[in-house]
Amino acid sequence: MAATAYLIAPTTPPDYHRIISPTLQVPSDPQISVPVGLLACQRDPLLRTLQTTVVSASVAQPPAIPAQKKGKKAVLAPEVPNELLLHVLLHDTVIFPEGGGQPTDTGRIITEVDGAIWEVVQAKRHGGHAVHYVKIRDGVHADTALLAFQPGAKVTVALGEEGYDRRYDHMSMHTSQHMLSALLETRLDLPTLSWSLTSHPSPCYVEIPRGMSQEEIASIQAEANRLVFEGRKVHVEVEELDVAQEQAKVIPKLESGRSVGKALPKDYTGGVKRVVVIDGVDRNPCCGTHLPSIHNLQLFLIPHTEALSRSSTTSARLYFLAGPRLITYLTSTHASLASTASILSCGPTLVPDRVTQVVDERKKAEKRVTDTEQGLAEYIAKGLAAEIISKDNANELYKHHFHRTDDTGNALGFLTSIAFSLGAVAPPGAEGGRPYIIVLSSTPSTQTANTISTVLVVGTDDAKVKVVGDALKTKLAIKGGGRGTRWSGKFTGVWKESRENTSIEEILSTL
Ligand SMILES: [Zn+2]
Repeated sequence: MAATAYLIAPTTPPDYHRIISPTLQVPSDPQISVPVGLLACQRDPLLRTLQTTVVSASVAQPPAIPAQKKGKKAVLAPEVPNELLLHVLLHDTVIFPEGGGQPTDTGRIITEVDGAIWEVVQAKRHGGHAVHYVKIRDGVHADTALLAFQPGAKVTVALGEEGYDRRYDHMSMHTSQHMLSALLETRLDLPTLSWSLTSHPSPCYVEIPRGMSQEEIASIQAEANRLVFEGRKVHVEVEELDVAQEQAKVIPKLESGRSVGKALPKDYTGGVKRVVVIDGVDRNPCCGTHLPSIHNLQLFLIPHTEALSRSSTTSARLYFLAGPRLITYLTSTHASLASTASILSCGPTLVPDRVTQVVDERKKAEKRVTDTEQGLAEYIAKGLAAEIISKDNANELYKHHFHRTDDTGNALGFLTSIAFSLGAVAPPGAEGGRPYIIVLSSTPSTQTANTISTVLVVGTDDAKVKVVGDALKTKLAIKGGGRGTRWSGKFTGVWKESRENTSIEEILSTL
């Protein structure tokens, strides 16, 4: 028997939006704009499309791009084209204007008169009303655009697939934040100082007054997921706003003077007080859009808090993921683990052991290279010392240039090892020791105009080392300096043996 699939669009239960005041009503007059707090997107967070009417429209300059606060992660703000926009006020909307830490939605408006589709790049709360920032379509004059948005014109406002996915992600993170903050507050007495709905797919965070132990984080996560599996319901209660009462409210402060939570925005004139309730868990004044249930908001907490030092206090961030963002995180985490396992030719569970093994092997290999280099440096130094001694005239200055190819990042280290070993077998100033001056140089095997070559001068006489160093500066444009019997420098560009080596020979011949 063939299976039958029933695909029922998720709907918001009728008891989700509760007007608890007998006198408050959602305005039905199409010439009046529904205030923020009672918008369709706030009454029914799963609604994607709405037929409504235009209340007013005007042409406006694009908003100024706010300067990013230093160190603050980019928080979702869709790009607004740097051109004239329409500010459109509708009777009602499914596009949420930013607020409560939740960024603006994006979407579209379809004007019925011509069937044209207009992109809504942002929505913002102006006083108590949601204003849609509408992009003027290419090739359309602003005045012509205004004609389509005459007061009373019928339009369809929609989130569109992309806009709905974006909103669903925001709702998942926002409702999870309410649940998380409530648990932190009630179980650990940790108030939420602030929170950030970061750009998808980064984890969001709550800021709390202190760091948390792994055990505390694990217990909060377990408790949250117990509530999630129970499928606790969410609903919204609205009533008229008593402005005087709201303004008289004292926002609690920590000992450090830091405020806990936020007051009602000063420019809010919508006249609606809205409380988001997670059954048996939390009641929180908020204007955001929230899912009707937490049943699919499995919460994952990054198992360590990030300390934040401020001058007066030390707070911490607790990062969290839920809903679609958690799936994205799991997918990318799994992908990076799988690719690491593939590089290491092992199963994902063996990755930590294999990495430990690789790191140990690398340490051993590095030690072996260091030991071998040391042996080689001593061997070269002994060869140089043998030459110094073998020359007939024991008082004549021994002058020599030793050049090598070195592709490691520490060519100077190796040259220094040679100089150090030479100092041990033929110490400068030793009784009966022959005077010498040696220029050591290293270049990589492939060179460009930006390649750095390294030069080290060692000798038995400070003055002669300085003479050679100065000459290297002027004749080879080497940048460097030194003290006593050592001088080192860097040469930038292509080192030609026929040119640079010859110049060094000439410098040495003048001594
Ligand atoms: Zn909220």
